[in-house]
This record gives sequence, C-alpha cells and structure tokens, in this order.
Amino acid sequence: MSEQSPASSPDRHPDPLAGDGPADPEHDSTAAYALDRSYVAGLTGRVVSTTGETHAVSSPIGGAPLAYVPQSSTQDVAEAFVRARRAQVSWAATSLDERAAALLRLHDLLLDRQDELIDLVVWESGKARKDAYLEVAHLALTARYYARTAHEHLDTRRVGGMFPLLTRAEVSRVPKGVVGIISPWNYPLTMALCDGLPALLAGNAVVAKPDAQTMLTALLAARLLDQAGFPAELWQVVAGPGPEVGGAVVAGADYVCFTGSTATGRLIARQCADRLIGCSLELGGKNPMLVLRDADVQRAAEGAVRGVFSNAGQLCVSTERLFVADQVYDRFVDAFVSRTQALTLGASLDWSVDMGSLISQAQLDAVTAHVDDAVAKGARVLAGGKARPDLGPFVFEPTILEGVSADMECFARETFGPVVSLYRFHGEDEAVARANDGSYGLNASIWTRDGARGRALARRIRCGTVNVNEAYGATFGSLGAPMGGMRESGVGRRQGAEGIHRYTEAQSVATQRLVPIAPMLGMSEETNAKVLTASLRLLNKLGRA
Ligand code: NAD
Repeated sequence: MSEQSPASSPDRHPDPLAGDGPADPEHDSTAAYALDRSYVAGLTGRVVSTTGETHAVSSPIGGAPLAYVPQSSTQDVAEAFVRARRAQVSWAATSLDERAAALLRLHDLLLDRQDELIDLVVWESGKARKDAYLEVAHLALTARYYARTAHEHLDTRRVGGMFPLLTRAEVSRVPKGVVGIISPWNYPLTMALCDGLPALLAGNAVVAKPDAQTMLTALLAARLLDQAGFPAELWQVVAGPGPEVGGAVVAGADYVCFTGSTATGRLIARQCADRLIGCSLELGGKNPMLVLRDADVQRAAEGAVRGVFSNAGQLCVSTERLFVADQVYDRFVDAFVSRTQALTLGASLDWSVDMGSLISQAQLDAVTAHVDDAVAKGARVLAGGKARPDLGPFVFEPTILEGVSADMECFARETFGPVVSLYRFHGEDEAVARANDGSYGLNASIWTRDGARGRALARRIRCGTVNVNEAYGATFGSLGAPMGGMRESGVGRRQGAEGIHRYTEAQSVATQRLVPIAPMLGMSEETNAKVLTASLRLLNKLGRA
C-alpha cells in the first residue's frame, strides 16, 4: 500500500492552518488545526444554544480540536421547535414552484462551493477527498431530483370516487409540520441534508441534530440553505449528546427521520410509538456481494474494492461479506488482493488518497477488535490487518480476511470499517441463502455478465437495494429508486416517492353530487340495498376499480 503524508493540503478556502485560533479562547493552546475564528463563529452561531457550554470537534487529521461548538439544552431544543413551527406556517403557504426553485439554487451553490465543503468534510471526518466529493454530488442530485419531480409527488390528484360522476374524490399531500432529523457522522454533509430536502419541499420545517463529531459540516450545510433562500428559522440546528438532545428532538417532532445504528433506531422507534408519530429508520447492515461464475473477474475485483473500502468502510451500504463462485474464486482473490494492496492510504486533503482515515479512536478500536478477534480464532489475513499510526492517528489498512467462521465477531456483526470476509460458494441457491443469513437487509451486490440473470437473483435477496455489476452507487445515485433496509436494517425509505411522502399526511376530500349515499325519495333500506347491489354488479361488469 502506498502512503500519503498527513495534511499535505494545497491552499484552499478555508485554510485551517492559516486560522487565528479556535473560537473558544480557553482552548487556544491545543488548536494545531484550528479553523479561522470568524469562519467558525459564522457557522456555530447557527446552533440554538443558551448553555454557554461548548464541545470540541477534533480532526482525525492530526487529532487536534478544529473548533468548539455551543451545546443545546432540552429547553433550547424546545425553543428550536417554537421557531420552526412559526416558520413552517408561512412556508407551507408558499407555492410549490417557489420551494422547488430554492432547491435548484441550492443545487448550484453546492457545486459552486464544493471545494470549501469538501475541505470541511475531510477535516472533520478524515475521509479521502474523492469520498467527500461524492457527498456533494449526492446532495446536488437529491436537490435537483426533488425540485424537478415536485409536482409529480405533491400535487393534489383525483382518484376514483365511490360512484362515477356522482362522487368526486381527490387526495392532497399535507405537510406533517416539524420533522426531527437525527443524523450520523459517516457522511456528514449528505446525511445532514439529504433527508431534509424533501421534508422542506413538502412544506415542513426541520429541527436537525447532527452527530457531535461532524457539527461544522452540518452547520455549513445549514448556512447554504439560508443562502439558497430558505427562511432561516425553517431549519433549526441543535447540538449535544444523543440520548439527551436527540431524545428532546423526538419528544418535540411530528415525524422523526433517524439514520444511525440499529440499537439507537430501536430506542427511537419505541419513543415514536409512545407518541403515535411516524418515523423512518435508516440503520446498519452486513452487506453481501455475490460474484457469480460468469462474472468479469477484473471488473468484479475493481467493484469489490469500491464496495468494501470506500469511505474506509464507514458506509452503511458497504460490502462486508464477499461470496465468490468456486469457478472464479482463485482468480478473483488474486485480482482483489493486488488491487487492495495498491491503494494509497493517508489522512490528508489531497485528491491522491484512495482510502482515508477512520473518524475516531472509538472506530479504530472497534475495527481493530474485530480483526484481532478473527485472527485469534483462526482467520487468515490476505491483505492489511493493522493500524497505521505512521499515516494518521486513526488510519487502518484495508483488510481482507479468509476463513471467517460463525464464532467470530465479524461474521454477522457490522464492523463499519475497511474489513471484508471472503467465502467460496458452490451453487447459486447456497449463495442466496448465505447472503440472506443474519438479521440485516440493507444492500447487496451481484456480479455477472448476464444482467437478466443478475436481476432475477436480486429479487430473491432480502435487501432494500441490490446492485447488479456495481457495489452500491447505482441504486444510491438513482434518486427515483427508494433506498432503505429490510429486517433490522430499517423502516421506511429515503429517495423516490417514499422519500417525500413520509413527510406528508394523505388527506382525502370527496364531494358528493346529486344523490346522497343513503336511501332517497322515500326508498326503504331494503330497496336501497338492492339498488346498491345492482350498481356494484354493474360497476364490476364495466371493469371499474
Ligand atoms: P448512533 O446510533 O450511535 O448515532 C447516530 C445519531 O443518533 C447521532 O446523531 C447520535 O448523537 C444520535 N443518538 C445516539 N443515541 C441517541 C438516542 N438515545 N436518542 C436520540 N439520538 C441518539 O450511530 P453511529 O454509530 O454514530 O453511526 C453509525 C451507524 O449508522 C452504523 O450502524 C451505520 O450502518 C448506520 N448508518 C446507516 C445509514 C443508512 O442509510 N442505513 C447511513 C449511515 C449510517
């Protein structure tokens, strides 16, 4: 594996090294990478906070604090909901075209400001620059998709009435009110905003609680919303520990969109059930990839590298289990191992890094524990296998394991790091059964030269998304296609019609004309029943719904 020296940053805005100190004077001495004070203040001023307390956001590139983010109390969260509710009333009264136009302005702003966004994402998360760029691209795609399909998803539409011509029925999409969005750190930009854009378009306000480790990116995203022309009070940002501040968001919201671990998702589902509000839960996975005997081995190996090591494996849809057909196993393993060993590792802002750092010591410990446990119980390491403190405090090598068995931690539990287990299979029924094993069902990938065969096999896999001849990007980048998990990988979907309808109530309005739905002109109930029965038979003969 080749290497990249830490923080070999070209001159970009904002240049953290050119800053005049962190925004918290008490912590000046620790700030090796402190961002410019006025730049940080411009971001952190967006948090609803009266506590006077701050929390350090540290950079995995060097490990020193980047900034100190004001923390919210539960009263601050309540205040955020008051402001959001106020803003939502006038926002819901604006036209759909007005709201869609703001999304299109955001689309262009994201592309125009990509260097600044990518720098901040890399500083906060330590990921490779190419992975940070994909966040910008996904968010721009999301903004444009929902802007262009606004009428298709949200216009009031006619449906068949009880009696043709006599009953006119229509369905409107009414905003839920204020949506609570709780997001994780792994895709700090896209996770902060992508679920909120359809919520805004549908006429809702948002109270967002991003993960504490990546607050600055989420705050820059909120600033971009302001600059795109969304009213400032419409998008409230609160900060603080998940159980306390996240809990207060769930307590105040009309709907909750949560992305994170299955364990936290369960807690949130219970809280939402108590309040009888809806929620979508985008959770973890132990995602399988199947390489069939007719696969193009080189393309499959290249795709496996993307599927396993993008974002250093800290990706909900990344591949952690790789099942390869007997007939191509050895050739595939050779190609996959050599491509993996050729990856450039590093913790820096440079485009040349193929795989970046993990985000934190906790992530490094979790990944190391899975690999050490597997090795201690007999797994073989075909590539990687250890931390690389010489490249950055939380860099871990891209790791390929063989001989993983059910008693090992990494067999069925999500690692959420750059580690994959390789398995050989003999028949496709066996491969499907093993892919469906376990409690997760988020994403799968199938490699074959026969697209139709791949799609037929995909329908037998119990995952919310299945990619044929791609790892995850084909479904993730197809915004009309819903994305989410089956089984313990989640409830509900982002993207597509489901991704916006979750933020609305369907309201049916029916207008009855000329005759009532009751006996008329002195008709008895018995005669009325006969007339109704005859008309039901007639409607069936006419093929009406
Ligand atoms: P996490 O559940 O610990 O935290 C996620 C968010 O929830 C954070 O903002 C956190 O502060 C908040 N939170 C924590 N406890 C809370 C509580 N009791 N009440 C309310 N909010 C609370 O998840 P994590 O470990 O930081 O993130 C990684 C996980 O997220 C992985 O399992 C990954 O697979 C999953 N993920 C899923 C998707 C998807 O789309 N399915 C996308 C990204 C990440």
